[in-house]
Amino acid sequence: MELTELKGIGKTTAVKLQEFGLTDVMDLLFHLPLRYEDKTKITAIDKLTGFSYAQVEGEITKSYVTQGRRPILVCEIDDGSQFMQLKFFNFYYSQKIKMKTGVRIRAYGEIKHGMYGMEIIHPEFTLGEEQPALAQSLTPIYPKSEGISQKLLQKAAAQAITLLEQGAFKLDELLPAQWLSAQQMPTLSDALKFVHKPPPDADVMKLLNHTHPAQQRLKIEEILAHFLAMHQARSAIERLNAPLMPINKMQKQQLLSRLPFELTGAQHRVVNEIHHDLARNHPMQRLVQGDVGSGKTVVAALSIQAALVHGKQAVMMAPTEILAEQHLLTLKDYFPEHEVVFLSGKIKGKIRTEVLAKIASSADVIIGTHALFQADVIYRNLALVIIDEQHRFGVHQRLMLKQKGQANDLTPHSLIMTATPIPRTLAQIAYANLDISVIDELPPNRKVINTVLLDNHKMPQLAERIRHACDKGEQAYWVCTLIEESEHLRAKAAQDTFEELKDWFPDLEVGLIHGRLKSDDKQAVMDRFKANEIQLLIATTVIEVGVDVPNASLMVIENAERLGLSQLHQLRGRVGRGNRQSHCVLMYQAPLSENAQVRLTTMRETNDGFKIARQDLKLRGPGEILGTRQKGSMEFRFSNPEQDAVLFKQAKSMAADLLQSNPDVCEKIIQRWQRQAQELAKV
Ligand code: ADP
Ligand code: MG
Repeated sequence: MELTELKGIGKTTAVKLQEFGLTDVMDLLFHLPLRYEDKTKITAIDKLTGFSYAQVEGEITKSYVTQGRRPILVCEIDDGSQFMQLKFFNFYYSQKIKMKTGVRIRAYGEIKHGMYGMEIIHPEFTLGEEQPALAQSLTPIYPKSEGISQKLLQKAAAQAITLLEQGAFKLDELLPAQWLSAQQMPTLSDALKFVHKPPPDADVMKLLNHTHPAQQRLKIEEILAHFLAMHQARSAIERLNAPLMPINKMQKQQLLSRLPFELTGAQHRVVNEIHHDLARNHPMQRLVQGDVGSGKTVVAALSIQAALVHGKQAVMMAPTEILAEQHLLTLKDYFPEHEVVFLSGKIKGKIRTEVLAKIASSADVIIGTHALFQADVIYRNLALVIIDEQHRFGVHQRLMLKQKGQANDLTPHSLIMTATPIPRTLAQIAYANLDISVIDELPPNRKVINTVLLDNHKMPQLAERIRHACDKGEQAYWVCTLIEESEHLRAKAAQDTFEELKDWFPDLEVGLIHGRLKSDDKQAVMDRFKANEIQLLIATTVIEVGVDVPNASLMVIENAERLGLSQLHQLRGRVGRGNRQSHCVLMYQAPLSENAQVRLTTMRETNDGFKIARQDLKLRGPGEILGTRQKGSMEFRFSNPEQDAVLFKQAKSMAADLLQSNPDVCEKIIQRWQRQAQELAKV
């Protein structure tokens, strides 16, 4: 039903609402209140203790403006039980004139304990002997955006509910009636009516905490829709055929014997899980989570090996050229008898044509960046797609690459590797469409990185640390966390730091790398750093992911308070990759916000990526963590994987039952909520 069919909504308003993501009357119903105001009753002033918000009504006994730097209008009222003050910091004198002694006033607002008893600052109020009738239900307060008034949303939602009550449109109940009654949950339409128009006796605390059965009813269907959609996506791929690529012990050993180390138990386990998938004729859909430095690259190589023994192609995609080049070197080393080629945005013209020709004919392993899935890249027989550090890639880029292999009706296997671990429970929700492997062990002899916090003023102490590391033949990173508004200014500021540090350390070889350098120049700097020709490398956060220079043992991060936990953890992971004792110095600018303090102490106290991820989740919430990194992979409007863990569990098992018993209903649930999710994604 069109929004313009509602009273008070003309074309212009409808457009504004649409821009806000509310396209029709149904959307209004699913646009739920954030909180409620209780204007259904008047509370006696002597009973106000314990209320955070309340409505009072009494007679004005006195009103005056205080003398001071900032005049305050104070209005004292008495309701027969007690007296209290209403205070206005912003007011008109005309307002004071109306607030005469003896006039009746009704006021609503946040109750505070003032110097002279209870008070409300800036209450909403009405004056006069004839007060309007009390509200019949709690007043919903909706999330809104600029240009849309709360009143407008309230009126529109109220009309939508009335229409629903009158049966003007249908909202099928899709959950099994038995289950609803067993859980004592209302139907969908009753739940919607309740949350938009809670009766005066509703449990307000539960509503405010989002734990009321009516809210739970809405959440469970939302979560159910998520699991069903994930399942649908998964089984759609599962139905496709993929190349069979079993690998035997000897073939595995070929690569293992070339490594300068033994695999860890966790690496072995994950490799086995992957090889098991590759020996099936349906596409692997697996996510490997492993902390920084846990050795994901070699796991990727062993997966590639399976493709190679069957004469098939494998591609590995990295988010940056630096990383891709690093993988190129490593994999060339691991597979000297195979043709390993490289494709990225910087490969152009004749060379690109040559590379494309190789990819279409002879190449076995293809390494690169997102350039790998441009339309004109044709693969000979792509059988395995590996995506490193997947949070840098959009979901749809992944799909495009997947389609590359479908020429002969075979879909490539896909493996996604991420160094930003998220807690297992959250992973199982966010990646319900994937199998998950975890490399939960670091290679032996890794020393725990020693992390210290240092005030920005303590530069001499820091200088000494840098000198100490370099004197031992080790190397250091210096990361500038610049908040300049453009890449150009960031590069310039990094340049300034570089000049300054060259002055500080005239005897050291200092290098500079930032996002504005041409990719060849970037590579040249990284090569020199790798070869230990640069001792101190000044960098912007471009080095965040993946760079592997085991001889680097000191990481300095300037203004570490500006970065989030996972980014700090990634950066710190650039050291501690060899077997020498490494250090990380987090410089900060005092005073620190409470949140920054927690982040920095967490970093000091643990090196464990999973612990850090849990803390990150606490600080930022799941929406923030998944939302920014994996757009579209998980957006819940009502539910929260942390808070609603029980519902998530229930929804998961309900999804399994429903898929068996009622596929038609499953489809309907997905559609109802997918539409909601799509609308939201537009906002
Ligand atoms: P990440 O998981 O961060 O991608 P890498 O694959 O870059 O980690 O590995 C980090 C370093 O550890 C590399 O230098 C790699 O050669 C080394 N490494 C990997 N596995 C092992 C192992 N089992 N024993 C010793 N060193 C290992
Ligand atoms: Mg890596």
